[in-house]
Amino acid sequence: MSERLTDEELATALKDPGFCRMRTDHVGGFAWDAATGWSGPGVGPYAALDLDPTAMVLHYGQAVFEGLKAFRRPDGGAALFRPADHARRLRASAARLAMAEPPADLFTRACAELTSAEDRWIPGEPGQGLYLRPILLATEAELGLRASHHYRCTVLASPADPCYGRDFRPLSVLAVDEDVRAVRGGTGEAKCAGNYAASLRARDRAMAAGFHEVLWLDGVERRWVEELSTMNVFFVWREPDGEALLTTPPCTGAIMRGITRDSLLTLAGDLGLRAEERPTSVDEVVEGVRTGRLTEMLACGTAAVVVPVGDLTVADRRHTVGDGGEGPVTARLRRRLIEHQHGLRPDTHGWLWPVPNVPTGEATTEGRRGSS
Ligand SMILES: *Cc1c(COP(=O)(O)O)cnc(C)c1O
Repeated sequence: MSERLTDEELATALKDPGFCRMRTDHVGGFAWDAATGWSGPGVGPYAALDLDPTAMVLHYGQAVFEGLKAFRRPDGGAALFRPADHARRLRASAARLAMAEPPADLFTRACAELTSAEDRWIPGEPGQGLYLRPILLATEAELGLRASHHYRCTVLASPADPCYGRDFRPLSVLAVDEDVRAVRGGTGEAKCAGNYAASLRARDRAMAAGFHEVLWLDGVERRWVEELSTMNVFFVWREPDGEALLTTPPCTGAIMRGITRDSLLTLAGDLGLRAEERPTSVDEVVEGVRTGRLTEMLACGTAAVVVPVGDLTVADRRHTVGDGGEGPVTARLRRRLIEHQHGLRPDTHGWLWPVPNVPTGEATTEGRRGSS
């Protein structure tokens, strides 16, 4: 465990937190036992996990997680962004891996309590936030293959800049042509640890070749655009009538139902932009770049917020999207999203969940709001 920083040291560190470089002083959590059901939530000091070597997660991979953020509000308070939606997705991920599904209110209270306890760790600049990482693990000590009868959810927090930086520079992306991340009927829609293990080889090779990220294609035809390793993807097309059309691949079961993705679809409506979920082939993207009909490509997720994709390499050919810089639709969507996250606009979509500010060490065991 790290030494507790003084408020002064912390203020300096929070000016440039990076992404998940720092850990806070506490973790939150709750647990499930087949015999006694759910218990918690609680907040305790940051510490190593105590796991038996036969803990089922280590052998059979029952591990799912979430990534959400708490943001500083103009009045000095803080709020979680769409925790009920993250709870719903954690439940869906758990269900896919035959794990106990945490009740939404338990999840939200655990996140809110940890955020309250770590209030001094929440950075204040627009775009920055306190990143929360709840992990749900099968903790029963048992070597026989079956679903675990014990689970533990630990919630970590880390002050964060957007993971590709606060200047949102365009990403250079490689379309993967060998490995497959997910197939329909598999676990692509679950935020489970194994999906990331499966993606690392292609991503490491791409990064060694100078790319920032990879674009995954469908696992069967290797033709349809799915998403990036931790982000969903959007395209901006110039329609025959000159209007912009925002599209994103539909959730077929192999891609993540990103909450940022959903937020952008909603915000596009607010901004008067046409938007639709539409299958897009990689050929269509290449053709769109060639003809100029594809004007922008962007990636989005809780960690990265909204970042432009400046170029896409397909079968060794690099295609520059637009002029390779950030387009106006990407910039507008990001600005609007950040305004909502920080409470700089009326919360018309009910996305913010205010958390009480409780001095560290005196976190309450009562959530401020009930079940969603
Ligand atoms: C988490 C994640 C996303 C983004 O989801 P958000 O809810 O927007 O953070 C997209 N794709 C994958 C594979 C992810 O793991």
